[in-house]
Amino acid sequence: MGIAIITGASRGIGAAIAEKLAADGHDIVINCASSVEKAAAVADQCRAHGVRVLAKQWDVADYDACDKAVKEIKEELGVPTILINNAGITRDGLLVRMKPDQFDAVLSVNLKGTFNMLQLVGAMMMRAKAGSIVNLSSVVGISGNAGQANYSASKAGVIGLTKSAAKELGARGVRVNAIAPGFIESDMTDVLPEDVKNAMLSQIAMKRCGKPEEIASIASFLTSDAASYITGQVIVADGGMI
Ligand code: NAP
Repeated sequence: MGIAIITGASRGIGAAIAEKLAADGHDIVINCASSVEKAAAVADQCRAHGVRVLAKQWDVADYDACDKAVKEIKEELGVPTILINNAGITRDGLLVRMKPDQFDAVLSVNLKGTFNMLQLVGAMMMRAKAGSIVNLSSVVGISGNAGQANYSASKAGVIGLTKSAAKELGARGVRVNAIAPGFIESDMTDVLPEDVKNAMLSQIAMKRCGKPEEIASIASFLTSDAASYITGQVIVADGGMI
């Protein structure tokens, strides 16, 4: 099987994707920003599937740090065949009150971080003429959301990046797709006030949040041979929210 890098895999959706891809038989690289102990615990769970696992801390917003990490991964495990750009943050606030720092921080991690890894790993995959890249967008990148102008802009940007990369990399055997989850149980949504959570739930046809495993199964499909003719697509998984 292949070698999969999953950014932001110390918890939440990224951790679920790492475990699913390990179960699929891929060697795994778990990235985190600071939760080194949590990343080590996810690594142990992945190792239980009998695959090679590296847990590495680096900031996806820092191009040089990404470059160093990708070179080390190539030396230690080989050329990556799967990249999941999952690392993401929120800094919510109404547009008129949003500080420029709040906007910049979210764009730096969610969009620039995705670009950094996509360019560095995509170049290696193009040379190898094989690879599958999955970027985590969000339904709010399609629909917009009050209080999330920065986050929605970053996730809309991820869709544009995905579609452009798919057109550039397709001829070299590299597929690039995105997943746009709705409201998924994780630390990111746990911090929301109860009234905001209830308002979101009322908009979901299935009347429940999604689980990280329900996103991981899509990443597994998109990176498998079953999706060998799918590129440039955005798979929405939101229980009927938008
Ligand atoms: P989460 O529980 O908050 O986890 C975020 C992960 O990203 C953590 O592993 C974190 O590492 C890592 N991370 C943050 N900044 C980073 C950086 N600069 N460099 C490297 N890693 C960084 O988030 P989640 O809910 O699982 O979301 C995962 C992805 O799905 C995100 O892109 C999010 O926008 C997207 N998404 C989530 C939902 C949802 O409802 N949860 C919906 C739509 C889209 P540390 O643990 O070290 O901080």
